[in-house]
Amino acid sequence: GHEDGVGEDYLFKIVLIGDSAVGKSNLLSRFARNEFDTNSKATIGVEFQTQVVEIDGKEVKAQIWDTAGQERFRAVTSAYYRGAVGALIVYDISRRTTFDSVKRWLEELSTHCDTTMARMLVGNKCDLENIRDVSVEEGKSLAEAEGLFFMETSALDATNVQTAFEIVIREIYINIS
Ligand code: GDP
Ligand code: MG
Repeated sequence: GHEDGVGEDYLFKIVLIGDSAVGKSNLLSRFARNEFDTNSKATIGVEFQTQVVEIDGKEVKAQIWDTAGQERFRAVTSAYYRGAVGALIVYDISRRTTFDSVKRWLEELSTHCDTTMARMLVGNKCDLENIRDVSVEEGKSLAEAEGLFFMETSALDATNVQTAFEIVIREIYINIS
């Protein structure tokens, strides 16, 4: 805390989950560095990125974990989830199979984390309206049924990316204070 003159008031671990190629890594790079990468190379060796957000005058450090591609092998380890207090469950609005997988990701999440954690369902790639495969209503109603926040985002054009992360961070803050 500030009493020792350094550091932040809070540190929150947040995990990104969802099928391969839904845009998890790009959501994180958009949020943390305002960057987008068109070729989908997983950043090897980087487990998480941190971003400092101010909430109610408090400095909150969000430590956001990215899978580095393990989800392809269904081998996201329990270390990945350990200590997480927030999660973004991401699908691609242009690929229904990624939306169908959300239930499985939620089950995995519930086996590793407390269900009181802040969770947001994220329909990414909303810039791809012309090839949309999952309606906004479907996303919303799944989120409602599962008790999740919901937002459609585009890591490509930056729509709602900041907002999605900040809602989760704020919810964690509210849960602990
Ligand atoms: P990950 O496997 O879930 O980490 O997905 P990536 O972030 O690597 O993205 C997979 C592919 O989708 C890459 O080719 C990205 O350029 C692309 N992509 C990611 N986010 C968006 C988005 O919001 N809109 C569009 N059109 N493409 C995206
Ligand atoms: Mg990735």
